[in-house]
Amino acid sequence: MLIETHAHLDFPDYKDDRDDVIRRANDAGVGIIINVSSNLKGSFSSVELSRQHDCIYAACGIHPHDAKDVTDETIQSLKGLITSSDKVVAIGEVGLDFYRNLSPHQLQIDAFVKFIRLAKELKLPLILHCREEAPGKKEASGLLIKSLRENLDIPVRAVMHCFSGDEEMLKQCLDLGMYISFTCNVTFKNAAKLREVLKAVPVERLLLETDAPFLAPEGKRGQRNEPAYLRYLLEAISENLGISKDEVERITTENAKNLFGIRI
Ligand SMILES: [Zn+2]
Ligand SMILES: [Zn+2]
Repeated sequence: MLIETHAHLDFPDYKDDRDDVIRRANDAGVGIIINVSSNLKGSFSSVELSRQHDCIYAACGIHPHDAKDVTDETIQSLKGLITSSDKVVAIGEVGLDFYRNLSPHQLQIDAFVKFIRLAKELKLPLILHCREEAPGKKEASGLLIKSLRENLDIPVRAVMHCFSGDEEMLKQCLDLGMYISFTCNVTFKNAAKLREVLKAVPVERLLLETDAPFLAPEGKRGQRNEPAYLRYLLEAISENLGISKDEVERITTENAKNLFGIRI
């Protein structure tokens, strides 16, 4: 069984065929899907989806794009939502995005720290989003690591999702005890550099995700992604690490269960 650790099935992209998408994932051996939220409304939708489908778990949080909307009331309302359900397994996705800059940097940092503290209080892991202003820049990742170090004990219970940093950033994340996840973008023809970084990740720290509807695999680029395509990622990871698909499946599923406290 595979665990999809990051999909956005609450998005309108799935409004017409959500049940089919979930069934195709199950048929492809994706037994658990963590639906990750981008905003407050999405957090409620994720919890609702997790109530409707046994295989869906929820992560609740607000994307750094919408950090400007995060107030103490938002945090309180998320806290109420999270504690109302036993299927919320993480706070996310939260972090810093200096690429699109849809919220001012300082507001992103302030909101991120609020989420780190919420995760600590509720004893939940974090699903982290981090995007630099441009390749080679390190401001966002530097501030993200600093915020984690200042507010949490090591090992930090978190996954750096859609990892896009270099080997130095990878080392900092691994030193903090974090998990790393890659999306189907490692299958892209022009992703040679990312595949090099992937090779430096110990399989015991690796998680699988699609970030659907985004980042459909090579051969389907530009189309809507879906959790069933996790198989393409599994194949690419197995090839690049030189470890059998069965072994990558077994270990990454174990990793996801450990991080998110899923016991089935
Ligand atoms: Zn993200
Ligand atoms: Zn995402």
